[in-house]
Amino acid sequence: MTTNTEWQQRKEKAIARGQGNQSQFYVERAKNAEIWDVEGKSYIDFAAGIAVVNTGHCHPKVTAAVLAQLEKFSHTCVMVTPYDSAVQLAERLNKLVPINHAKSIFVTTGAEAVENAVKIARAHTRRPGIIAFNGGFHGRTNLCMGLTGKIVPYKAGFGPFPADIFHAPFPIEYHGVSVADSLQALETLFKTDIEPQRVAAIIIEPVQGEGGFYPVPEGFLAYLRQVCDQHGILLICDEIQTGFARTGKMFATEYHRIEPDLMTLAKGMAGGFPIAAVVGKAEIMDSPNPGGLGGTYGGSPLGCAAALAVLDVIEEEGLVVRAGAMGERMVNHLNELKQRYHKQIGQVRHTGAMVAMELVQDGDADKPNAELTRALVGKAAEKGLLLLSCGVRSNVIRLLAPLTISDALIDRGMEILAECLAETT
Ligand code: PMP
Repeated sequence: MTTNTEWQQRKEKAIARGQGNQSQFYVERAKNAEIWDVEGKSYIDFAAGIAVVNTGHCHPKVTAAVLAQLEKFSHTCVMVTPYDSAVQLAERLNKLVPINHAKSIFVTTGAEAVENAVKIARAHTRRPGIIAFNGGFHGRTNLCMGLTGKIVPYKAGFGPFPADIFHAPFPIEYHGVSVADSLQALETLFKTDIEPQRVAAIIIEPVQGEGGFYPVPEGFLAYLRQVCDQHGILLICDEIQTGFARTGKMFATEYHRIEPDLMTLAKGMAGGFPIAAVVGKAEIMDSPNPGGLGGTYGGSPLGCAAALAVLDVIEEEGLVVRAGAMGERMVNHLNELKQRYHKQIGQVRHTGAMVAMELVQDGDADKPNAELTRALVGKAAEKGLLLLSCGVRSNVIRLLAPLTISDALIDRGMEILAECLAETT
């Protein structure tokens, strides 16, 4: 048997360090909310492949749908010889999103969806500028990297960045940035960096993911909608991490009762099969010419089959409601821990089953504790719990368990987390 350590040594020789790996164990198999490594050790999965397997690892319905598709054909290129599953998937997404008269396109990754949303916005408005937010994450490709609002590790050394991208402060009360501050900064941007008449779109995550699980405060998206309407700017909601029942709604934008112009979707859409989408108002989506959007693998038949099955499972198993209940259960555990560790746990927050705790020193929001965050993730892995960190200050533990996890496994995972805190503080 090749051990985890041996595989890691071989990995370090064979794969460039830029494609780093958080955990030092190698997956042998996974089922629902558990992973087994090559040494036979099991882990409770509080990561879901970064909010991808919302329906659990190897959900039988998703696996069956993909196997059935594989028996028929695996690839023809939807832009050459199309197939009905892509049409069916687009029809379903168009109905699910909080956008009237929507149309979709399919691509392969989240970053590609964001790139295409920007292309569509520029083609429609014939304007170049894009405004994103500090701490936002939109992907690692060149344009997306420009939009992403965190230097290390995403931008350091990779410049020059694409032109006509500007960042506004994301409103986070906990860090002293109010909704009014953010809006004021946006108005200042319009005076100092780019006139609103040159801005094609504003892109925002309804809950910042990689940036630290900060939800957009109540009312802010409605303000942005007004600003956009006033200046003919399009509003893009990046729901790549928040989508597909994760937040206790099908899409987190629904909490804000606004209609975005475009949405980017990926991750949770197909239970791990690489497919992503841009969905938006039909007249905007139709702006680019035929052939201007797409790609060889965009909307792959395996991805479409998986996504259709995932949508069925979300509906049949009531995962939107389940995400809400799960989030409550996890947050109750974390709040108990916060009472015991009030100096270390600065804030517990969640939007449905997107749950986080921010780790600090002396209970002070301005003293991020990245060291404790790293130690907790490492200790948890030793004890058989897979955790993820995030945050502009690298001091947030985020919990993203599959929405199909049992209460018993949530409680066991939380027990391990409590043990880890006891041993690292
Ligand atoms: N946008 C958001 C909000 C994301 O969370 C991510 C992935 N973490 C991306 C875009 C990029 O997706 P991908 O890694 O599939 O390119």
